Amino acid sequence: MRILVTGGAGFLGSHLCDVLMAQGHEVWCLDNFMSGRRANIEHLLSHARFHLLKHDVRKPLRWRGPLDRIYHLACPASPVYYQFDHIETLETAFLGTQEMLKLAERTGAKLLYTSSSEAYGDPLEHPQKETYTGNVNTMGPKASYEEGKRIGETLCKDYREQRGVDARVVRFFNVYGPRMLFHDGRVVSNFVRQAILGEDITVHGDGLQTRSFLYVDDAIPALIGVMEKAESIGPFNIGNPDERTIKEIAEIIRREIGSASRIVNVPIAELPGRVGDCR
Ligand code: UDP
Repeated sequence: MRILVTGGAGFLGSHLCDVLMAQGHEVWCLDNFMSGRRANIEHLLSHARFHLLKHDVRKPLRWRGPLDRIYHLACPASPVYYQFDHIETLETAFLGTQEMLKLAERTGAKLLYTSSSEAYGDPLEHPQKETYTGNVNTMGPKASYEEGKRIGETLCKDYREQRGVDARVVRFFNVYGPRMLFHDGRVVSNFVRQAILGEDITVHGDGLQTRSFLYVDDAIPALIGVMEKAESIGPFNIGNPDERTIKEIAEIIRREIGSASRIVNVPIAELPGRVGDCR
């Protein structure tokens, strides 16, 4: 098939490109390299079936010829990146998703949109089922990402209902693995970085809060499965039900890396701001 992967040079996108290439498809990897990295797809560049498009998904994409599938992943996903420019994050979520839905409408391609557990905001229900509508705040510090993901989902629904686009939606929960950015800012990459550098591993609070994590090699087949097998728009939650405390995650990471780092508890109030210049 002829497949477009937006955000194809990012963490998840590049792993998806790897699998689609191994399956024999012709793949177009679209990225503006805001948080994507050329190094993630360097090994694919010499392949005749692989094409790199440096493009900002907010702008119309001229496309010639047929197209079978659009995996629409393009969006800064780490808090460090999406908080760098909230308006760009919102535009990417709205305009970018709309551009891809219009492309799907023109070409007849099936489209899969990657949303996030952040679409639930600060949920009051645990675990979150697909039917839960969330606890959200248009004025909150994470609103550009949370509301962006929500409007992206709504666009998929409305292009499906009004324009007949075969769109579907997945919500990822805490995916981790190789090619996450060194300064992604989330817990697994933070702890791995601190353990490798021998710095203190900073557990927020008492570390008894729990999360579950999904390894990237398990996330990609789920993505392809929803694209190829699902019959409805979803949304489909993709995660791991195995909840662990953050303290335990710190201990596992330190042990596996064989690090001499200390595990320290940091009061949440003393944490440095997460917003930084990520470019
Ligand atoms: N966390 C931590 N140390 C870090 C980064 C995160 O203890 O260096 C904690 C954080 O307070 C939260 C959990 O790990 O309780 C997961 O945080 P993350 O930002 O990765 O994801 P989210 O809170 O969005 O699930």
